[in-house]
Amino acid sequence: MDEKSGKMFCYQSLCIVFLMIPTNPAGLIEYRAHPFWVQKYCPSHEHDNTPRCCSCERMEPRETGYIGLNDGRKLCLECLDSAIMDTSECQPLYVDIQRFYESLDMKLEQQIPLLLVERQALNEAREGEKHGHYHMPETRGLCLSEEQTISSISRRPRLGAGNRAVDMRTQSYKLTRRCDVTAILILFGLPRLLTGSILAHEMMHAWLRLKGYRTLSQNVEEGICQVMAYMWLHSELTSASASSSSSTSRKGKRPPFEMKLGEFFKHQIESDISPVYGDGFRAGHQAVQKYGLQKTLNHIWMTGTFPF
Ligand SMILES: [Zn+2]
Ligand SMILES: [Zn+2]
Repeated sequence: MDEKSGKMFCYQSLCIVFLMIPTNPAGLIEYRAHPFWVQKYCPSHEHDNTPRCCSCERMEPRETGYIGLNDGRKLCLECLDSAIMDTSECQPLYVDIQRFYESLDMKLEQQIPLLLVERQALNEAREGEKHGHYHMPETRGLCLSEEQTISSISRRPRLGAGNRAVDMRTQSYKLTRRCDVTAILILFGLPRLLTGSILAHEMMHAWLRLKGYRTLSQNVEEGICQVMAYMWLHSELTSASASSSSSTSRKGKRPPFEMKLGEFFKHQIESDISPVYGDGFRAGHQAVQKYGLQKTLNHIWMTGTFPF
């Protein structure tokens, strides 16, 4: 490691993409490494459009074909293993997360439709909301409060030529307003643990709205939603390593890669640099560690802020 530039130099490296790392003009091998997966790659791949998996962020090795999801996203084969592809496939996971909320004494009485959608449908639905919440540039889930017509994925795609997802079927779904939340939308094609953590996050937006919480500042609202996503991931990983089975796990124990992937999603939440999601999560997590979830929620109800 070069102290000044922060770059790493090594004489014996394999790039995940090229399977070798060429030397730079100074005759040295220069590489970058992913902070979680510790995979080495040439610095050039950060700018040469080498595809990354939309779920685990790992770069696509030249020899391996990632799966194209029709909307510009690519998925690696290991993430594909546990990916949730259509609305009906997601319902057992929804039941799991509803139970998780119930176990925390936070049952949602209202039946809120959950739909899996393509990226385009998600972005259009976001535009259709009158009171836009703060969102990351790349939205993966939404909690809707307007009556809209949503194109939801009714049949999962199959793998066609060139490793592309084909033959996907969508169905229009007209949302009607029975309460302050009309639906939760989640991007299709993500692994179960990522889909579940996004769902746990969006369900918290729904819960806050339905319980009549005031309009919160962005970092408090997104922060507490990220805390719920994190807590759900944590409970999934601990119950899976204790080999208990939830209703969506066919086998009790999960494959080692899925466990590692779960740790990666937790790491992403913890180390998010955004002031809203990242700082919000860290403040919320600290409060929950110190005072517990119920007291933290009571404090938010009374003051709109996290307790210190
Ligand atoms: Zn992946
Ligand atoms: Zn959110």
